[in-house]
Amino acid sequence: MVLSVDIGTFYVSAAVVAGFFGFAFIAFHVLDRTTGGILQWGIAYLLVTGGLVLTLYRPVLPLLIHGPAAHTMFIVAVVLLDAGTRRETRSVPAWFGVGLPAAGFVLGLFFSYAIPSMPARLEVLLVAVAIGTATTAVRLLRRSRGAEEGLHTALLTFAVIYTVLALSIVLLAIAAPLVGPIDSLLAPHPIHVLLLPALMLFLIGAGMSKLWVHYMRAYAEARHAATVDPLTGVKNRRYVMPEFERLFQRAQREDRLLACMMLDADAFKSINDSYGHRKGDEVLQLLAQRITAAVREYDLVGRYGGEEFIVVVSDLGREDVVGMADRIHQSIRETPASGLRLTVSVGVAFLSSDDERADDLIQRADRALYRAKRAGRDQVAVDECEPDVRRRIGPAGQATW
Ligand code: GH3
Ligand code: MG
Ligand code: MG
Repeated sequence: MVLSVDIGTFYVSAAVVAGFFGFAFIAFHVLDRTTGGILQWGIAYLLVTGGLVLTLYRPVLPLLIHGPAAHTMFIVAVVLLDAGTRRETRSVPAWFGVGLPAAGFVLGLFFSYAIPSMPARLEVLLVAVAIGTATTAVRLLRRSRGAEEGLHTALLTFAVIYTVLALSIVLLAIAAPLVGPIDSLLAPHPIHVLLLPALMLFLIGAGMSKLWVHYMRAYAEARHAATVDPLTGVKNRRYVMPEFERLFQRAQREDRLLACMMLDADAFKSINDSYGHRKGDEVLQLLAQRITAAVREYDLVGRYGGEEFIVVVSDLGREDVVGMADRIHQSIRETPASGLRLTVSVGVAFLSSDDERADDLIQRADRALYRAKRAGRDQVAVDECEPDVRRRIGPAGQATW
């Protein structure tokens, strides 16, 4: 063997690594109680530690302890790891997630004791684990599609680790019959050149990926909760304000067009008073849907206050923005929301050279909205401040003035 490995030391290191990750997984589970299979992985890793310790003490332990006990620990660990990743990928119905590992457990035990030849047993086990690992890689890959950026990268890395692992298990299955029988996992043997790195790759690589995915999912959920209004599903004010400021600075820097609309539901208090708050909430949800449906995908829509919404429109000419405001206004007044007739008043303002902050634009849109209200509600009012004629659509360098 090119590489000289002290196998005992290796197993001790692997047991310590598995124990460390096991406790880390369980700590994460206790801390935030999120799903995603982290508890299953925690128990599985601790079982791996247990199984490795039993294997290490094999020479001094009675057969009944180091044999069936260690086997059971490893098999249950694999079953739990599989159940854990199934929760992660959410790709199978719940009964399948329990049924398949249970069947795997029974089959695993069956093969461990019903096939008398150790090499044949190993071969069957390796092929089964290789298939399981490869399908997990595919499931993780599928799950990564459509996940948001940070989570996507983490899931992709997880899938790559599983793919490398599946390939090393296939290599092991091919090499096992060629390199001669293994008497004991503790005795030096050429197969260890593949087996030990594969085990370490799984323990560290998959362990790190699991923690990374867990962290990214928690982060994505927290970010969603912090930036989205829970009632209407549009962005909340906390998200909209800095984002608007960023768009404002960009528009100033690159002489781009920018407009802001403030929309306020008319006589909304009377809806609450007549039909109750729950009905009022429903109407607000529908209102948000109508606004979102009438704007472009990349326009910024947010709930500014109670029954007041804000829309920030970039790179669109004055007439188009007013047309968009009219469309929103019409779509709301034409289709009753939750059986009730609802109207909105809209104030529209365009970026002008006097504006210093996004807030200045909001102030003017707000003033226009106030005019719409005073003029009898149910209408669109446009701020009279002249838009800056130099502004145009598109990147800097193609000025039209
Ligand atoms: P105006 O046409 O002048 O805008 O009249 P209005 O009744 O819409 O305005 P006002 O500011 O008097 O009342 C707004 C109401 O919106 C009062 C408040 O109870 C209601 N509201 C604010 N947030 C929510 C919410 O989340 N759910 C419900 N159901 N009502 C809300
Ligand atoms: Mg109102
Ligand atoms: Mg209001």
